[in-house]
This record gives sequence, C-alpha cells and structure tokens, in this order.
Amino acid sequence: MSQTGKIAFLDLVTPHVELEEELVAVFRTALRSAAFIGGPAVEKFERDFNAFCQTKHCVGVGSGTDAVRFALMAAGVRPGESVITVPNTFIATTEAISQAGALPEFVDVNERTYNLDPEKLREFLETQCERDPVSGKTISRRTGRVVSAVVPVHLYGQTADMDPILELAAAHKLVVIEDACQAHGAEYFSRKEQCWKKAGSMGAAAAFSFYPGKNLGACGEGGAVTTNDAEVAQRIRMLRDHGQSRKYFHDIEGYNGRLDSIQAAILDVKLAHLAEWNRQRQQAAERYGELLRSLAPAVQLPHQPSWAKPIYHLYVVQVDGREGVMKQLSEAGVGTGIHYPFPLHLQKAYEALGYAKGDFPIAETAAQRILSLPMYPGLTKEQQQTVTAELAKCVRHKVAAQTV
Ligand SMILES: *Cc1c(COP(=O)(O)O)cnc(C)c1O
Repeated sequence: MSQTGKIAFLDLVTPHVELEEELVAVFRTALRSAAFIGGPAVEKFERDFNAFCQTKHCVGVGSGTDAVRFALMAAGVRPGESVITVPNTFIATTEAISQAGALPEFVDVNERTYNLDPEKLREFLETQCERDPVSGKTISRRTGRVVSAVVPVHLYGQTADMDPILELAAAHKLVVIEDACQAHGAEYFSRKEQCWKKAGSMGAAAAFSFYPGKNLGACGEGGAVTTNDAEVAQRIRMLRDHGQSRKYFHDIEGYNGRLDSIQAAILDVKLAHLAEWNRQRQQAAERYGELLRSLAPAVQLPHQPSWAKPIYHLYVVQVDGREGVMKQLSEAGVGTGIHYPFPLHLQKAYEALGYAKGDFPIAETAAQRILSLPMYPGLTKEQQQTVTAELAKCVRHKVAAQTV
C-alpha cells in the first residue's frame, strides 16, 4: 500500500463542500418560488454559458445526449441518413445519432490526438463516397445512404483539428456538429482565421454535457447546445419542449428535454469557477508531463499540438500491459480509469452496422493501451508525485522482467 493514502481517480466531493452554502441557497430560492422548469434561472445560465463559449445562442437541455440529438435534428439531419463520427467515444455520441433517426458511420482517429483524423476523413469522403449527380449530396458506398453530417468529438478536453474538418465538410455538403461534452472552455487556434476559438463555437452547433463528472457538472443531469445560427437555436428550443413554438402551439412533435431551473442555477454558480478549475487541470497536466518525461517511451504522454489549448477533462497515457499496470496502481491506492476500453464498432449494440475487428486499427490499439490517471482541480503536486512514483514502479518492473 502507498504510504500517503489513497488517491482517487476523481474527487467530486471537495468542490461541492467548498460551494455548499451557495449551492444550498439555490435550493432555498427554488423552493420559495417553485419555479422548477424554465424561467429566469435557465435564461441566466444560457446567457452566461453563451458568453463563456463565445457563441451567439445557447439552449439548455436535459443532457449531453439530448444536446447531440437536438443539434443534429435542428441542423437538418434526416431519418435514414448517415452521420460520420469516431469509434472511440462514449456511446452517447452514436446513441444521439440513432435517436435522430440516422445511422452512425465511423472514421478512425489520429494516433497522437485520439481525435477524428482529417486525413482519414478526406480519404473516406474521396474513396468511399460518391456525389449524387442530381442533388450533389454525398452518398456512402458502404451503406448507400446520404451522408449529411459529421460529429467530431473533442475527446478528453482537446479539440479536434477543426480547420480541415470544416473545409472537407463544406466541400462535401456535411453539417458539422461538435461533440464538446468533454471540452467546456477548450480552445483551438484556427490557422485559417488566425485566432483562438472556443470549443462549441466552430460547427453549425455544439453539444455540451453537464453530467456531474464533466469539467462543468450539475448536481444531476444537464446539457446545452451552443450555436451561432438563430434558426437552429429556435428549433432546439422547440425540440426540447414538446415542439411548442408558444404554449400549447405544437408546431412539431418534440421531446421532454429541458434543463431544469435548479440545475441551471447550480451550473451558474459553478461556471464562475470553471476557468480557474480548468487552469488547475492544465497546471496538473504540465506537472504530470514533467514527472513522467523520464518514463518515455514506456509511458506515452498525451500530445498537445501547438493549435490546441486542452482543458484536460482526462489525462490519458498509454502503457504496455495496461491491465496489470492498472491492477498494481489500484493495489497501491491509485485510482485510474479507461476511456474507453472497447471501440463502439465492436460493441454488441452496433453488430448490425457490419463492422469487424481491424476496421479502425488506431482506435482499437489505443483502446488496449490507454489509461486515465487521476485528474481534477485541486490534485496536489504531492499526490501527482505518488501517482507517478507508483507508475514508475509498474514500468520498471516490466522492463526488468523483459531483460531476465
Ligand atoms: C458525457 C458525454 C456525452 C453524453 O452526455 P450525458 O450528459 O451523459 O448525456 C456525450 N458525448 C461525450 C463525448 C461525452 O463524454
């Protein structure tokens, strides 16, 4: 056992204890007004999160999954169409595609960033798709379906390389919906526009999750869509609220997909701390970088391109013999995670899509080697030294075993 006690993979308790008075005050206010759905608290949070994301519109919804689904539907994805995304994301991304009536179609990721590889996207669009001569739409040869959108996932809190993705999407008439569920506040330097852009401000719309463990988390479920398109925002406002354009005027069939007022007010309290929390995560990532440098190449560190300012939702390394390393760290009191152990194209739920092992080798290899180390605001240098010392023992042991 470690001498310094256990180091959890994630500490969700401390920030809530620190903000307890403010958070309890939110409940008191809500109880006294009984405004539980909609109202000023939701509108205020939408305004504040919109400003944080440097977008024109923000619509609070029930979850990140709702956010992806509504964004796709509002941006014009139709039932029966095909939507491109990556195989190494949380299943909510592809569930939302299916819930919008479309079919997920995968393109592999870049081996250093774990995000959608623009070159592989190009290859897919140029060699596996054709242009319908009448409509000009992109058709997937594999499925015969119209490919209408692409969902780059800003995985682990680092944006995908958006310039080439946006350019390819425009050339092939695809709508771009950012899955920013892990990337609240991440930034991307657009070489094309020569400026830094916030995650969630680059596509036709973007989805955020406020699941408790995300960088900005509710005390329950929550999500939001950001967009610069007023019509898309208006359609999402209808979709989240039973298709109402105003009370009892149901222009379309919608969903019960609202952000409730207590969660909105809680999120607003926490949003004031998000920039500082993200800064602490970035600082912790820098310290891991220094502490782990000497363990390369046995421990492969996250790659941060010059155009990325990630917010380290997760700090993910790669190691040989991951299961053994994980077990040994656990025995030493260090919590870790795997995000995610199985790529989606190999999940039972997606058997019918017809993919096989070997179809997305980068995602498949990464899934066997990735390990998420403890990462949260307030993680101390001493805790990180313990984590890296224990990790060094795992790696050294293996090197020794190989040379016997
Ligand atoms: C968390 C997450 C979602 C879904 O968010 P929920 O709020 O849990 O519905 C979608 N995509 C990614 C990449 C996520 O990490």
